[in-house]
Amino acid sequence: MDRSLAELEAIVRNRICGVCTERTVNGECGLEEPSGCALFRLFPQVAQAIQTVHSDDIGAYIEAIRHSVCTLCAEQAADGSCEPRQQVQCALDAYLLLVVEAIEEATGKTFNKQGIRPMGGPSGTHSGLSIQL
Ligand code: SF4
Ligand code: SF4
Repeated sequence: MDRSLAELEAIVRNRICGVCTERTVNGECGLEEPSGCALFRLFPQVAQAIQTVHSDDIGAYIEAIRHSVCTLCAEQAADGSCEPRQQVQCALDAYLLLVVEAIEEATGKTFNKQGIRPMGGPSGTHSGLSIQL
């Protein structure tokens, strides 16, 4: 099922922002700069990375995001490390399973998610997921 970028972003926003720990009681993004959220700041690349992979293996999608999104993100250091990722403060990384599920919803696919395990984040951060590659 083909979806426009706007449709895909709307589905992902609905799914992720609704559970994100940064969301305020007013339903708004509580980040100092909401436009800085990596998930949506780089959403065209996120959507493209996911849509250009044709696999039922979630690992392939994770690799595509690392390769096509994280490499463009200003937060990633030259050695490939990422402080927000390590601190569970990147919504894209922290909620990747939910992002993938939203994409599943949009495309009708079912991915093997064995490469992802739940993990509680530090207090005050996104309590999300950690990825095992
Ligand atoms: S940090 Fe990102 S995912 Fe969380 S509420 Fe803000 S825009 Fe949504
Ligand atoms: S994990 Fe780090 S490098 Fe990748 S999108 Fe998030 S903040 Fe950017």
